[in-house]
Amino acid sequence: MGDGRVIVVGAGFSGLACALAVEAAGARSLLLEARDRVGGRTLSRPLPGGGWLDLGAQWIGPTQDRMYALVAAYGLETFPSPAGGAPTLVLDGAPVAGPPAGLAGLLDTLDALAAAVDPVAPWRAAGAAEWDRTTLGGWLAATAPDPVTARYAGRLLAGGLLAASPAEVSLLQMLFYLRSGGGVGSLLGMAGGAQQDRIVGGPAALAQRMAGALPPGRLRLDAPVDAIAQDATGVRVRAGGQVHHGDAVVVAVAPALAGRIRYDPPLPAMRDGLTQRMPMGAAVKVHARYPEPFWRADGRSGVATTDTGPLTETVDNSLPGSPGGVLTAFSYGAQSRALRRLSDGARRAALRDALVTLFGPAAADPVDLVEYDWSADPWTRGCFCGMVTPGSWCDYGPELRAPVGRVHWAGTETATRWSGYLEGAVTAGERAAAEALHTLD
Ligand SMILES: Cc1cc2nc3c(=O)[nH]c(=O)nc-3n(C[C@H](O)[C@H](O)[C@H](O)COP(=O)(O)OP(=O)(O)OC[C@H]3O[C@@H](n4cnc5c(N)ncnc54)[C@H](O)[C@@H]3O)c2cc1C
Repeated sequence: MGDGRVIVVGAGFSGLACALAVEAAGARSLLLEARDRVGGRTLSRPLPGGGWLDLGAQWIGPTQDRMYALVAAYGLETFPSPAGGAPTLVLDGAPVAGPPAGLAGLLDTLDALAAAVDPVAPWRAAGAAEWDRTTLGGWLAATAPDPVTARYAGRLLAGGLLAASPAEVSLLQMLFYLRSGGGVGSLLGMAGGAQQDRIVGGPAALAQRMAGALPPGRLRLDAPVDAIAQDATGVRVRAGGQVHHGDAVVVAVAPALAGRIRYDPPLPAMRDGLTQRMPMGAAVKVHARYPEPFWRADGRSGVATTDTGPLTETVDNSLPGSPGGVLTAFSYGAQSRALRRLSDGARRAALRDALVTLFGPAAADPVDLVEYDWSADPWTRGCFCGMVTPGSWCDYGPELRAPVGRVHWAGTETATRWSGYLEGAVTAGERAAAEALHTLD
């Protein structure tokens, strides 16, 4: 009935990579995207006078080989994040010269524990059951030498990596994520780490080029999928009132959103249970634009971290050769939710105050503060990614990639390397394409 066709739900990097892999194998794809654009959790906003802001994902780094290959294949280039200058660190409300003395040992311990976790099956690790029921926050409180180190590490790790609070993240989820991304140094690093490079025009430009490489008629925008039915003859996927027939379907959206689609027959209890246990993180990413990168004159890098206040970290996001300076700041988990509860005016005042705490009075008057609310966006509902809630990896983990009949699962959350990242999205899409194609043989 489906005529050798794989239907792909969601045109983020995972769905795009999946549809392209299906076509490359000589089969037909149909890529259904709810929004009026491709790219999912990537979005660029052009700036007056040239340049752009990346409102979603922006960095790629070493070992993210598929992303670098795609950038080259589609004729784009990367440029390095700014280097030089001293980082800013505010601990317990006061500027300090370096991180807490016990931090490095704590991070080494986490890396050593992560080495025992196979990212393909974290639930099989010898310590999995205990790590699954322990929260990162609880582990840090018991292990860190002092409360400031615990709080700072919790914000960098649960916040900086999963946009969550340490109380929301199990130790096993954290260890899986560390292992999947090559360890603490690889995940948190600028040069040599995940924040090393940006793509000229932003990842959104790459998504558009990938979509442009699909044969005509393969991509439908404004096509939100609300129902997927399967039987012995094939799949029927309903999008915007239209029903599309195929042989297999790849759902390339985060599990929390995949759980909102209606399946016939209904999903098995364990698979549906997994989608109930993978909430999205909660981050506020805000770009503060200034007439110039004033922090550089003071010998500062623009990279700041702190254990207090609404912001956890900032980076210098100014574009080389473009006028003006951009400090991009992040708030995570409970702090981001506290910001959300404020009125627009009060939130912007709180963000400006937090920037002044880190960078002094020169930070008080940005030309502009630019945010995008991914949690309010019905086709993302949070960021950076979905994570497995404490206590759930051991029971529900095996459902993450297990196909349900003709329904296959992609999206960055299903990746085993660089889960949560663009790289993971691409490799997950390609893995699901291979899986679905195999069933057509
Ligand atoms: C603020 C922010 C900063 C980030 N920073 C980085 C970074 O620097 N580096 C990095 O590597 N990663 C980063 N990430 C994470 C990265 O964006 C994601 O890992 C990646 O984009 C996920 O791709 P995906 O294809 O799996 O999912 P998505 O990008 O979410 O794509 C899913 C697509 O499915 C569509 N969709 C959803 N439901 C339906 C439906 N029912 N029917 C049809 N279509 C549907 C959505 O509209 C979307 O287009 C960041 C994310 C955010 C939001």
